[in-house]
Amino acid sequence: TSARVAGLGTTIFAEMSALAVRTGAVNLGQGFPDTDGPDDVVDVAVDAMRSGVNQYPPGIGIPALRDAIAAHQERWYGLTLDPATEVAVTTGATEAIAGAILGLVDPGDEVVVLEPYYDSYVAVLEFAGGVRKPVTLRAPDFRLDLDALRAAVGHRTTAMLINSPHNPTGMVLDAAEREAIRDLAVEHDLVVITDEVYEHLTFDGAVHVPLATLPGMRERTLTISSGGKSFSFTGWKVGWVSGPAALVRATVGAKQFLTYTSGAPFQPAIAHALGHDSAYFEGFAATLQARRDQLCAGLEDVGFTTYVPQGTYFATTDIRPLGFDDGIAFCRALPETAGVVAIPTQVFYDDEDAGRPLVRWAFCKQESVIDEALRRLQALR
Ligand code: PMP
Ligand code: GLN
Repeated sequence: TSARVAGLGTTIFAEMSALAVRTGAVNLGQGFPDTDGPDDVVDVAVDAMRSGVNQYPPGIGIPALRDAIAAHQERWYGLTLDPATEVAVTTGATEAIAGAILGLVDPGDEVVVLEPYYDSYVAVLEFAGGVRKPVTLRAPDFRLDLDALRAAVGHRTTAMLINSPHNPTGMVLDAAEREAIRDLAVEHDLVVITDEVYEHLTFDGAVHVPLATLPGMRERTLTISSGGKSFSFTGWKVGWVSGPAALVRATVGAKQFLTYTSGAPFQPAIAHALGHDSAYFEGFAATLQARRDQLCAGLEDVGFTTYVPQGTYFATTDIRPLGFDDGIAFCRALPETAGVVAIPTQVFYDDEDAGRPLVRWAFCKQESVIDEALRRLQALR
């Protein structure tokens, strides 16, 4: 094993999902829905397979999917994109992140990231030799500290890597935060890579506004999203980037040697899914919001301090009211003590203390599954 990879250890998601399988625990760890997305979307994929859509598609994705991504950005956000040069399909948002960083970050470049961060950001920044400059989001509300953001940008900063709606905290950037990001990006001429995979999963009227829509941002922003989250097909691994041709080209320059191309029959299916009417997207968010409320009320009842998220699949708790203080130890023991799996937020922080008592719970699960997890967690009281 190379030192590069050995230093990364095993991703927490693999560790915790394996633990759930081994112990029979209810898995509220890794964020994947336990109900598949719409049948009509599956039908398109199956038809594609049966009709011979099974060989390498174009590296940047099939035209129908690139057209559908461009149409989606126009319809929801008023962003006009050339599907031939300003959109590319990737193998999940994970590859979009990897391609963007490998394609845009040179060794020694500093990249501002919000921590806690999605774990692949750290790994890929290390592959690229980039230096992460974390801006810490703290409980209880996980708002972006604008002074800390400004302080993180220096003369070696070349990019900001933003994520909103934010995993794991569920924070959705507000107007003042977006504008602060924009002002800094424009002032320092930075590229902004923005991971918006939870774009449709916001609650209580919280509005997701893509950073690319702010004045001065379209020409410097690479937007990342994924069919996994919006349509509950996380295992299909269809993601994409959109933005100025130069940024998309850089991403594809790396992508061509990572996977070359992405799963053929899933692409027409996600193209079809992107055309679903607003009722689909609103209905899905409303269902998730109900699951969020169910989980948060239950966790509060067990005795955790619970931070209700504005978006995503995840709620965060502080475990100290129940007499625990180390989320990593708590989560490692939880299958044994309660028959449930959750994710310790500390693993997404560089800051030694900011995430120590925090634990992330996924609510993209059936009502009965959340009920069962909550019933089991009563053992901790
Ligand atoms: N970014 C964030 C913030 C995520 O939560 C996820 C979900 N796993 C991804 C990227 C990766 O998405 P995909 O499964 O499409 O690779
Ligand atoms: N995004 C999901 C999560 O955060 C899945 C992560 C993964 O499997 N790598 O849990």
